[in-house]
Amino acid sequence: PPTSAAPVIRQLPQSVVNKIAAGEVIERPASVVKELLENALDAGSTRIDVSLGQGGLDLIRVTDNGCGLSPEQMPLALASHATSKIHDADDLFHVATFGFRGEALASIAEVSHLRLRSRPHESEQACELEVIGGKSSPITPCGAAPGTMLEIRNLFFNTPVRRKFMRASQTEIGHCSEAFTRIALAHERVHFTLRHNEKTIFDLPPVADWRERIAALCGRDLERSLIPIASGDGDVHLQGYVCDPQQSRSNNRMQYLFLNGRHIRDRSLQHALGEAYRGLLLHGRFPIGFLRLQMPAEAVDVNVHPTKLEVRFQDSGRIYSLVLGTIRKKFLATDLTAKVRMNG
Ligand code: ADP
Ligand code: MG
Repeated sequence: PPTSAAPVIRQLPQSVVNKIAAGEVIERPASVVKELLENALDAGSTRIDVSLGQGGLDLIRVTDNGCGLSPEQMPLALASHATSKIHDADDLFHVATFGFRGEALASIAEVSHLRLRSRPHESEQACELEVIGGKSSPITPCGAAPGTMLEIRNLFFNTPVRRKFMRASQTEIGHCSEAFTRIALAHERVHFTLRHNEKTIFDLPPVADWRERIAALCGRDLERSLIPIASGDGDVHLQGYVCDPQQSRSNNRMQYLFLNGRHIRDRSLQHALGEAYRGLLLHGRFPIGFLRLQMPAEAVDVNVHPTKLEVRFQDSGRIYSLVLGTIRKKFLATDLTAKVRMNG
């Protein structure tokens, strides 16, 4: 006969559920930076300022000039599974915003000291509220410009195991800066700034030309060797830049893929990019690329991965061929293959 007693099943308290969600979505300070930036963009901001302290471990502050939140909505913004972005299950199949799960702020609030200050544009008055480890203070009026500020201090203060895994401030700032770069790359019409320990790292005024944003983030040298590509296949559009094979990297980190304005990671498309450069790069070198794909929201499932980094295409073969074919054709048209052979 079985020796252990029959189990007693309990519904977990909400705070434990939030902590589990935080473990999945908030891996390190850079994850907070990403979530807060995406919220600011979803709020329609045209200017977003990020300020970090000690690699984001001590402080992450994101200030935007977006739509803002009314005081009645502020506690809801921090509740789990509370979102203004989708309403029913049907909406899941054509998500147009970055967020939709309504878990980011609840998760962050569970593992940090969070301050939310917000003022809707139509309001004279800002309000703020503080949450420490999921426990909220009353909402108090204060002065602030229209928009929203979220301030996260002492990330993982109540999850010592996670805190212990954080690397030196320099490593964490590297990850934060990468998260910032991906988002700032995709939104060249938005003014972004990034400060670390009171020092400005990036000040990116809005630009109409994507090349200018790439230059501001990746340097003028790289911008000079960009090769524009553009093509379409029905309702799928590809636009962007690849790089002269003279410029390559020892890893694939300079391969930026954006799908409907969202940065994604996709091994198959990175493979297509690599294939396009076959014979043009030395072994172990990786091409540089900034590729934007635009397609109807119905043609792709973004609800696969909690951080939405990986997506599922309805017709991945067609997109692979589009990327590979477009770059190849461009190389042939500019006779780059011949030029490289001569130089090499
Ligand atoms: P999601 O983005 O998935 O909806 P979040 O937890 O990130 O979930 O945010 C919850 C809600 O809080 C959002 O749906 C939005 O209504 C509101 N919100 C969050 N950040 C901002 C912001 N910067 N400006 C205006 N509203 C915001
Ligand atoms: Mg969000």
